[in-house]
Amino acid sequence: MSDHKELYDKVFGLLEQHDDWMHKTINLIASENISSPAVRSAIVSDFRERYAEGWPGERVYAGCKYIDEVEFICMDLAKKLFRAEFADVRPVSGVVANLIMYTAFMKPTERMMALSIAHGGHISHARGTLGGTAGAVRGHKVQNYVFDEEAFNIDVDASIKRIRSLFNDGKEVKFLLFGGSVFLFPHPVKEFREVADEYGMHIGYDSAHVSGLIAANKFQDPLREGAEVMTASTHKTMPGPQHGIVLSKEEYADAIKRAAFPGLLSNHHLHNVAGLAVTLAEMIEFGDAYISQILKNAPALGQALHERGWHVIAEDKGFTRSHQILVDVSETPLKDGCRVEEELEKANIIINRNLLPWDKKRGRDYLAPGGIRLGVSEMTRLGMKESEMDAIAEFMTRVVMKGESVEKVAADVADFRKDYQQVHYAYDTETPAYKHLRFL
Ligand SMILES: *Cc1c(COP(=O)(O)O)cnc(C)c1O
Repeated sequence: MSDHKELYDKVFGLLEQHDDWMHKTINLIASENISSPAVRSAIVSDFRERYAEGWPGERVYAGCKYIDEVEFICMDLAKKLFRAEFADVRPVSGVVANLIMYTAFMKPTERMMALSIAHGGHISHARGTLGGTAGAVRGHKVQNYVFDEEAFNIDVDASIKRIRSLFNDGKEVKFLLFGGSVFLFPHPVKEFREVADEYGMHIGYDSAHVSGLIAANKFQDPLREGAEVMTASTHKTMPGPQHGIVLSKEEYADAIKRAAFPGLLSNHHLHNVAGLAVTLAEMIEFGDAYISQILKNAPALGQALHERGWHVIAEDKGFTRSHQILVDVSETPLKDGCRVEEELEKANIIINRNLLPWDKKRGRDYLAPGGIRLGVSEMTRLGMKESEMDAIAEFMTRVVMKGESVEKVAADVADFRKDYQQVHYAYDTETPAYKHLRFL
C-alpha cells in the first residue's frame, strides 16, 4: 500500500479514536461545548461546499436562494434571542467578529481600553507587543483597565481615573471593550456609559464566553447597559457550531455590514450559519433550563472542590456567576497548572491551565501558571447536575491531592461517563452525543 493511502486511513483511525475518547472523558474546557444532533446534521449539509458573498438577497454568487432564506431565519432568531436590533451572523469566528467590530468603530491606530490577559482578557483584545489582534493586526493602542483582585472584577473608579488621565495627557481613547476569557462576574458596563458619553467613546462587549448566559438573560444585558455593539463566539456557552456573530443597535448596521463584507470575509461558512440557526431555535426553546443548570453546576463544582481542600478563587462571592470557576493550584502537590492539566488528562479529565492575576509578580508564566480554569457547559449538556459536580471534584482530588494512580481514576471516569451519553436541552435527545459520523 502506498504511504499516502496509509496516512489517509490513519486520519480516519485517529478521528475514530478521538470520538471514542470523548465518550469517556470529563471535559471541563470552558470554551468548549457539545452541539446537538440537529446542529451537527445542519453543519454536514451541502451548504458546506457553497459560496455566498455579501448580504442575503444581494449576493455576489448565484445558487443562493435556499441559503439566503436560512441566513434570514438565522438573523431573525439571533435578534430575538439577544433582544438586538441588528445581527450579522457571518463572522466565521469570535476573533473575526472582534475584527469586524474594531473596523466598524475605530480607525487603525486609535486607542482602546480592554482587560489585560492576566486579568482575563483575550489575545484578540491585546496590544501589538504581545502579538494581539487589536494591536498587531489593526494597529490599535491598547490600555488596560485597573483590576481589583479582591473583587475579581474591573475597578470602576480607578479605571475611569486612568481614562481621564489619558485624555489629560492628550491620549484620546475611542473605544471601551468589556468581556474576557476568564469571566466569573458580570462586568461594570453601565458604570462607564457616562464617561463614554462625556468623551465621545463607544462601548463594545465581547461575549464570546458568556453569550449563552446573555441569551438566557441570566448574566448581564450589555446592549441595554450601554454597549453599542456585542460580539460572540457561538460555541462556548452557546452550544453551536464554531462561528461568530456581531449584534448591535440598528444605527451601526451599515458600518458592521461593510466591515464584514467586503472587509473581513469572502466565504462565511454557510453550513455553520445553518447550524447557528438551529442552535438559536433550540436555545429559545431550551436555553432557560440549560443555562439555569449551568449556573447551579459551576458554583456546586467550586464548593465541592473547596470542601476537598482546593483553593477556589472568589469563595467569598460564591465562586462564580458564570459557567466557569478559577482554581489556584500552586499549593497543591503538583504545584502548577501545567502539571495538573497533564495528570488530569491521563485520568480522562480535560481541563486547561490558566494564568492567575498575581502569577507574573511571582515569576510564573503560561508554561507553569498557578491556576486552572474549569467550565461546566459540556457536562451540563450531557445531563449532569450538582451531585455529578461532587463526583467530578472527587475524581480530580484523587489525582491531584491524593496522587492515586491515573490509570485507576481514568477507568473510573470512563465508567462514570457511561450514564451521560446524550445531549439534553435539544429537540432530539436520543442520538448519541459523540457518535462517529462517516459517509463511507
Ligand atoms: C474564545 C474567545 C474569543 C475567540 O473566539 P474564536 O471563536 O475562537 O475566534 C474572543 N474573545 C474572547 C473573550 C474569547 O474568550
